[in-house]
Amino acid sequence: MTHLAELKETLRKKGFRITKPRLAVIDVLRKAEKPLSPYDIQKRLNSDFKINTVTIYRILNLFGKIGLVHRTHTKEGYVCCDSNKPGCHFLAICKKCGRKKEFTIKECAILSLIPKDLPFKNIEHISEIAGICLSCSKSKNTYT
Ligand SMILES: [Zn+2]
Ligand SMILES: [Zn+2]
Ligand SMILES: [Zn+2]
Repeated sequence: MTHLAELKETLRKKGFRITKPRLAVIDVLRKAEKPLSPYDIQKRLNSDFKINTVTIYRILNLFGKIGLVHRTHTKEGYVCCDSNKPGCHFLAICKKCGRKKEFTIKECAILSLIPKDLPFKNIEHISEIAGICLSCSKSKNTYT
């Protein structure tokens, strides 16, 4: 789980103010074990501190742009980026329960497949891979 202080530092470095709603959203996400939708995030906020989902969307958008969160597709939602290492980020997501695990590959082979004449610089990529986590593969429940 990424430390809150580290996330605050990233925000500061990128030139963004650390507001109470921003902190609340990232704190919920970094503690989550699976991707969350803005509605899930809203439900998990402290009951004395409610933010509307439009604001949550806006915050997630900003965090996505600066790499603090990743949007996921295997299970629709957002996760807090769990890596600050250089390289390409890979997110493994359980198709059944949504449990996620992020890892970084420094010398990513996919980058070597990109055409040399592609008119882009500083290319990086984020991958999502799907599977069944160990604890789900042990349970006999039907596929959901
Ligand atoms: Zn990441
Ligand atoms: Zn890559
Ligand atoms: Zn699972």
